[in-house]
Amino acid sequence: MVRGHRSEVDEQVAELLRTARSSLGLSLAFLSRMDGTTQTLEVVESAVPQLMKDGVERPQSTSLCQAVLDGRLPKVMSDLRDHPVAMELPAARFPRLRSYVSVPVTLSDGTVYGTFCGAGLRADESLGRRDQSLMEVLARAAAMVIEPQVRSREREREIRARLEPVMAAGGPAVVLQPIVRLADGVRIGAEALSRFPAEWALGPDVCFEQAHSVGEGVPLELQALVRGASYLDEVDGYIALNASPVTLFDAGCRAFLAQLPPERVLVELSEHDAVEDYEALADALAPLRASGVKLAIDDVGAGFSSLRHVVLTAPDTIKLDRAVVSGLSEQPVLAGLVASMVTFAHGIGSSVVAEGIETRVDAELLRDLGVDAGQGWYFGRPGPAAALSSAPVTQQA
Ligand code: C2E
Ligand code: CA
Ligand code: CA
Repeated sequence: MVRGHRSEVDEQVAELLRTARSSLGLSLAFLSRMDGTTQTLEVVESAVPQLMKDGVERPQSTSLCQAVLDGRLPKVMSDLRDHPVAMELPAARFPRLRSYVSVPVTLSDGTVYGTFCGAGLRADESLGRRDQSLMEVLARAAAMVIEPQVRSREREREIRARLEPVMAAGGPAVVLQPIVRLADGVRIGAEALSRFPAEWALGPDVCFEQAHSVGEGVPLELQALVRGASYLDEVDGYIALNASPVTLFDAGCRAFLAQLPPERVLVELSEHDAVEDYEALADALAPLRASGVKLAIDDVGAGFSSLRHVVLTAPDTIKLDRAVVSGLSEQPVLAGLVASMVTFAHGIGSSVVAEGIETRVDAELLRDLGVDAGQGWYFGRPGPAAALSSAPVTQQA
């Protein structure tokens, strides 16, 4: 048996199978998955390893286990030769099985995952109800062991199936939201924000997180970057593009960013994405930044991490999170916080953009507190590029 290839979960199942095999004196015990068409012997514990290995597949409909599940055969058979139904099935002939015990593995929602099964190469008249009970207990334990893995695989399949058509179509739709200079209300740029199919009813941050959880995060982010950057030809000012650290570490991503007009690109790095190695990230971004691409730290003040993140990346722009911006006029403490953030940012040579500005009062207050630019529903919702071009635009501040 190829132990080395077994996952921890499979190893736990194997332990239960060994218990079954030794307690019932069987030659072979296995956990099988029944997917409707195929019976896959996912974990096999065998006295004769050559006989059967992990991963063996056979048609489900003609399997002994299916006949047991259907009630055409009993769960415990001390000699298959006593059961003509069994002897007609190919499974009874190769290998030459004699005794057989098969019980269903049922998940918590009642669905049958497959079977927990044992077989002997000799007839064994002593096999009986007690052996069935023991197998049923072990099958329940196996179900509990495998259920989290089954669920996470299902979830992964579901996410992949949803992402597939979006990625095949070149990625999510991307809308633009104006970024406005607070001193005079002139639009200086726009943030590119991804939009996924409405029926998913999921925010883009959740969609990207799900994509990352199945290993598709970087390609999906790249597609969004390409879509966002495509608006450079259509709108004036800079375009702010969101990217997570892992995507920025991707050579393809950096190569793509490197061929854009650098003075019109601002990369937003969220404060909530953990950066393990700031130096490595700084090194990765150095050539881009040297060429003129601007870097912003996003979501500052949302409480994801310390200002250390900000200091270490020495960003061109600090984007204050909506959490410290909305309702500013009613909460003097927030105004104090914003004022000190502005002092801090300007002290390290960064400009400040406030996000989530929904009212004129907040916009004016932020301007008076020294915040350089703002973004929010008050200035404009994220929308098509055409909705931006009507607004007055000057070059980046
Ligand atoms: P974010 O980068 O902080 O983007 C700002 C979010 O605030 C956007 O949410 C925007 O629609 C919303 N917003 C803007 N103004 C207001 C306002 O006045 N009031 C309120 N309540 N909300 C406002 P959205 O579009 O749902 O995006 C959520 C997050 O998803 C983004 O947060 C960003 O982290 C992520 N995201 C979106 N598009 C992309 C993308 O293309 N790539 C990556 N990596 N992340 C993206
Ligand atoms: Ca952002
Ligand atoms: Ca933000």
